[in-house]
Amino acid sequence: MSGAWGAMSGAWGAMSGAWGAMSGGWGAMSGGWGAMSGAWGAMSGGAAGPRVLGPTVDDQTRCVHYRTPLDVIAIRFACCGEFYPCHACHAETADHPAQQWPVDRRGERAVLCGVCTTTLAIADYLEADSCPECGAAFNPGCKLHTELYFQV
Ligand SMILES: [Zn+2]
Ligand SMILES: [Zn+2]
Ligand SMILES: [Zn+2]
Repeated sequence: MSGAWGAMSGAWGAMSGAWGAMSGGWGAMSGGWGAMSGAWGAMSGGAAGPRVLGPTVDDQTRCVHYRTPLDVIAIRFACCGEFYPCHACHAETADHPAQQWPVDRRGERAVLCGVCTTTLAIADYLEADSCPECGAAFNPGCKLHTELYFQV
């Protein structure tokens, strides 16, 4: 009898050892979540979305150059893959000349709606007057200098 009990408590011992390992795992996981939400907060100041470089003046990608109610998009530049609110932001902030997206890469999701943080393919942006996701109107003036961002 006592031999069997001894074997069982040995098993219990092994199981609680396993529990200990599992709760250690949970602890590690919640630490991971905390680190992740910290990263999101730092990236966007609240709304989740890609990081936008340059002298922005709010969290809808308006910048010191273009800040009307319609200026809500940021462009990812072909040269560095980073989002900037406008060509002037890139010129002032980046350490290299801007490159335009070639015509055969119109499928790149290089346009960010600063209102809802959706990214649009270049081709979709060029055909849209407003964000297909949230309906935010785009500045028709941007279309006047499309060639600064996309080869035409
Ligand atoms: Zn660049
Ligand atoms: Zn700018
Ligand atoms: Zn939108």
